Amino acid sequence: MRKTHTDIKEKFEADEWRVCERTFSDITHRDRETIFALANGYIGVRGGFEEGFVGEDRYTDFDTMLNGVYTYFPYKHVWARPGYPARWHSITTQMNPYLSEIYADGECVVMREGKAENYERTLDMRDGLLTRTYEYITQSGKRLTLKFERFVSLADKHLCCQRVEISCDKDAKIKIAGKISKTLSTPRFRKDGRKNEKLFTTWQKFEEVGGVRMGLQKLKKSGFEVACAMNTSCTKGACTREESEIELRDVYEFTLAGGEKATYERFNAHTCNKDYADYTAVAADCVKAAGGKGFDGAYREHSRKWREFWDSADIELDGDPAIQQGIRYCIFMVNASCGKDGKTNISANGLMGIGYCGQTFWDTELFIQPMYNYTDPSVTKSLIEYRYMLLDKARERARQMDDSGALFAWNTINGEECGHVFEASTAQYHINCDVYYSIYRYYEATGDEDFLVNTCAEILFEISKCMAHRGAFVPLKGNKFCINVVCGPDEYTPVVDNNTYTNYLTRKQLYFTLEVAELLREKYPDKYRCLLAKCDVDDEEMNLWQRAADNMYIGYNKELDIFTQDDQFLYRDPVDIEWLAEHKYPLLFNLHPLNLWRYQVCKQADLVFLTYIFGNEFDDGMKKRIYDYYEPRTIHDSSLSSSIHSIVACDIGYYDQAYGYLKQACRMDLDNYNKNVGEGIHAACSGGAYQMLVNGYAGLRVYDGKLHFRPFVDAKWNSLSFRIKFRGCAVRVKAERSATSYTLEEGEEITVMHYGKPVTLRRGETESAANEIMP
Ligand code: BGC
Repeated sequence: MRKTHTDIKEKFEADEWRVCERTFSDITHRDRETIFALANGYIGVRGGFEEGFVGEDRYTDFDTMLNGVYTYFPYKHVWARPGYPARWHSITTQMNPYLSEIYADGECVVMREGKAENYERTLDMRDGLLTRTYEYITQSGKRLTLKFERFVSLADKHLCCQRVEISCDKDAKIKIAGKISKTLSTPRFRKDGRKNEKLFTTWQKFEEVGGVRMGLQKLKKSGFEVACAMNTSCTKGACTREESEIELRDVYEFTLAGGEKATYERFNAHTCNKDYADYTAVAADCVKAAGGKGFDGAYREHSRKWREFWDSADIELDGDPAIQQGIRYCIFMVNASCGKDGKTNISANGLMGIGYCGQTFWDTELFIQPMYNYTDPSVTKSLIEYRYMLLDKARERARQMDDSGALFAWNTINGEECGHVFEASTAQYHINCDVYYSIYRYYEATGDEDFLVNTCAEILFEISKCMAHRGAFVPLKGNKFCINVVCGPDEYTPVVDNNTYTNYLTRKQLYFTLEVAELLREKYPDKYRCLLAKCDVDDEEMNLWQRAADNMYIGYNKELDIFTQDDQFLYRDPVDIEWLAEHKYPLLFNLHPLNLWRYQVCKQADLVFLTYIFGNEFDDGMKKRIYDYYEPRTIHDSSLSSSIHSIVACDIGYYDQAYGYLKQACRMDLDNYNKNVGEGIHAACSGGAYQMLVNGYAGLRVYDGKLHFRPFVDAKWNSLSFRIKFRGCAVRVKAERSATSYTLEEGEEITVMHYGKPVTLRRGETESAANEIMP
């Protein structure tokens, strides 16, 4: 393992269910706004302070984001060539409805570095609750005790609730002003002050609907209209409603006797006209209903949902609290960020920041879906539905590229390609294969034939047409089917011929599509005919799929006895990667592309990835040789790299390396390993973190329709346990250092494979088997 990627200094005390900070610093505030962000797949709220922040703009980014709500911006290409996208789209921030100013005897109470005493901010991952407490000393020496709580409801996707408890050691005049402000909060869009709002809003206004006040805005170009409604209450003082050109305020003024406590609650709802014609009424109803339940009532419903989620998705790691915390943090953030309605997806930076503009990449299919596939496959299904929703756009993109069928956009929200550096975006044709891969694994895990034939088959037909026409039978390559001038997963070697990951997956995709076609022809002839007509597929086309798959070119080098990443990689300039890491890291920003591409250096796992996802098709020797060759040449500029290396390191018995990469990936955001957590979390890395333990350490793979395990429990750990859903069954796995027990919690009977040997389980029964590999 490369030495630059082992040491991480933990930034939070190890705690299995909580992330807690006890000191506040201006400098790290923006990063911590990501770390303490909350979301529910629909709304994302960064971890800013309710009472505001007094510091430089660059230290704060208190955004609210709505999944899938975007606006367009034009591209200004110096030289636009055919197929270059003319515009891109990005999620935008919303009017900020989270600020509630607090005054004590007229003095504005704001957290300042060194000013708050007994400060603590805690994210409770089990219940999805953020709590912050501190004591504030006023200029006249009064001591205010403040407690802020917040959650973004998992039970009602439109709702976010806040509560502030305030008390003082002496009598004090308190004023709380809950605001909705027209000012959009992202500094990067705020450079020109209010002008910036004009940049992407057509209008902003305040309205009252059914007695509820709300801010409304319409986004330019995309035409989305969004509402944020507020409903406040306080145990002291009456509410005075104020309105100015830029703000709505619910103001409470009262005198607090020494030792007395006041509780202020606030319910916010976000809605969009893409979901409801009467979106303002939905927002009003939502906050009214929440107000009726109160913070505690709404919180009970919300935390029940998180508990249900953890019942199916938790990974318990006994004996290593720092890794446990990291893993849970990753799982928490993935679930908080992931859209689950078939219309939204997960952004590369989650709903915690707009670093990747809210856009979706292959990260979804290869890094996020595997977790849901075996914990809650209905989410995988909704993510495939999202791709189905984009199929027409993918057809259009294929036409723009002079391709056949459909080509999914590399990075997108609505299906239109946003990637302008075509070498490492459009060139990643493997995005089509990644969609195939997710369909294949979903079907394998659920046996959901209905979805396969009614939704997925159409996607498969279209992407198979695309891939079969994107390649050619090349005479000097023995008439093998070659796919040239593409970019594989490794973005530091773009525009290459025969990327093995792409070719290999295309072959699998074509064979699977042919199988699905056969299933349709036999069992659903009417559907089959309709689909052939709709996708313009005939016998000749399917013949091509067959021939392309049968003759797929898979690069192999005899001297090294390894498959090749692509036709060029092995012949590129050797380079001292440690020198590069020290002097030019991250390479993307420090080397001209021509200097980057000429080297034998990978940004992330490429061929190594393939040996993981189709592990049974590579023998141990080949896996080792591939890892031994490529891992030392990989610089891990991408956060997607380390988890895959950890998994494969487990497969081949490199447990020290597996642990190093495990730690790096699962604490990537908590410890700000890539120094860019301020932009949002690394969603794919987080999804990969789940896979490191389940697919890496416990060795889960599905071969021949069966769950296969090969557990290895590190010497530092006592046990590793989790629950896997598979074809109507739920199996609890508890791996200890010397043996593993399997319990069938749902379903009648299942046979799982333990180091290749069958273990048959009946409902409620536990079977144990000795581990063949021990620390
Ligand atoms: C990686 C891609 C990834 C994207 C979004 C890039 O740095 O190289 O593989 O899809 O980030 O996470």
